[in-house]
Amino acid sequence: MSQSTPEFNKVLYAPLSEVDPVVQNIIDKETWRQYSGLELIASENLTSRATMEANGSILTNKYSEGLPNARYYGGNEWIDELEVLCRDRALKAFHLDPAIWGVNVQPYSGSTANFAALTALLQPQDRLMGLGLPDGGHLTHGYYTAKKKMTASSIYFQSFPYGLDPSTQLIDYSTLASQARIFKPRLIICGASAYPRDWDYEALRKVADEHGASLMADIAHTSGLVAAQELADPFKYCDVVTTTTHKTLRGPRAGLIFFRKDGEAHKDLEKRVNDAVFPACQGGPHNNTIAGIATTLLQATQPSWKVYAQQVIKNAQALADELVKHGYKLQTGGTDNHLVLWDLRPLKLTGSKVEKIGDLLGITINKNAVSGDASAQVPGGIRIGTAALTSRDMREEDLRTVAGFLHRAVQLALLVQKESGSKLLKDFVRSATVPAEGKVGAQQVTELRREVRAFARRWPVPGITSPIVRPAGIEEDD
Ligand SMILES: *Cc1c(COP(=O)(O)O)cnc(C)c1O
Repeated sequence: MSQSTPEFNKVLYAPLSEVDPVVQNIIDKETWRQYSGLELIASENLTSRATMEANGSILTNKYSEGLPNARYYGGNEWIDELEVLCRDRALKAFHLDPAIWGVNVQPYSGSTANFAALTALLQPQDRLMGLGLPDGGHLTHGYYTAKKKMTASSIYFQSFPYGLDPSTQLIDYSTLASQARIFKPRLIICGASAYPRDWDYEALRKVADEHGASLMADIAHTSGLVAAQELADPFKYCDVVTTTTHKTLRGPRAGLIFFRKDGEAHKDLEKRVNDAVFPACQGGPHNNTIAGIATTLLQATQPSWKVYAQQVIKNAQALADELVKHGYKLQTGGTDNHLVLWDLRPLKLTGSKVEKIGDLLGITINKNAVSGDASAQVPGGIRIGTAALTSRDMREEDLRTVAGFLHRAVQLALLVQKESGSKLLKDFVRSATVPAEGKVGAQQVTELRREVRAFARRWPVPGITSPIVRPAGIEEDD
């Protein structure tokens, strides 16, 4: 601010806490929640301070529709340098030869990256196959219900879901191959949001080739582990690979689309992908986010990245092992990646109730369908991931402690359900929160919450730079 800054511009120079204490307080409360709780949502992670700085930078001001050296606006010399750098780092992080692969770093998020990729690969109403949502697939892989086409991927394309082998809960590649012979897809999408095992990309390539179809891997969940070369390499077999940047990759919220450039089959794929992102599906790139992606990708090319990814997997396996030791049932019995799917049906508990009790305890998890669920409306399991807790420095022993908390949470959910005398979620919540004569559930929830909080607060949270104090509006019983 200068001496002559007029009144109407003074607001531009004041910090958030002064200009808008209401929003500042919401941020403080969310900071407190992240610090005080155990984040086990498999699609979440804790990005770095450096990424947050880039994401919150002055780059947010700039319009740059188009690509480096081909923009619709002037003043893009540094933005061009940034986007070229980000693309180079993306190829490097995933060990790709720039002569064979290219990447578009502009997608705003995973879903928009996927829709742009479909726009590039297909004509409207072309046929695609993706893993069904109840089997761990993602909405954007063609999901529809009997009554409704739920996403653009089923509204603008014809889609057909493949699934799991009920006996192994692994992708049923042979049924997929016979379904493809009937459906004749133009595109097969692989990748999942809730699948604890790795993919056989080679098997899918064979099916795609049988029908002259394209193969796309959406590695939104696992890209950090793929970059670390801890999982199979989808780039060996796929034409296009999409990902989010904020899950195991630990960056800002955005997406990437990788495309092959070699051979007749990929002749104009680069142009189709770039045109699909802009102008077909998006407008101006979010350059502050692209800076965040770039600095994230730098981190993912360092030797420490592999160690992080290995620890994420070891942590998921320790968690799985401990839950199995307690006698619980996991889908596929364990995990090869960052997540476990916990089948609660043998306990006669729904995913919603365990998610709910988790929220009351400061353990953040999400309900998830498990293979063979009768109703998609009542998911019979929960999904648990270790990427975020690994970013808070936890190791196997700590994840065993966390598994102990989960065990107690589930046992407590059973008690609360019994004491509620009903199957309704609202009665369950009342029973868990309102102490009542002759009942112990609510009291035990309070006690366990205290233990979880005390444990969680032993660990640092990246991105918190000032001392943490309990913000106004947070009531605590301890
Ligand atoms: C999370 C996810 C997406 C969507 O990402 P958004 O950034 O939420 O749009 C796409 N595909 C898969 C497999 C995912 O898990």
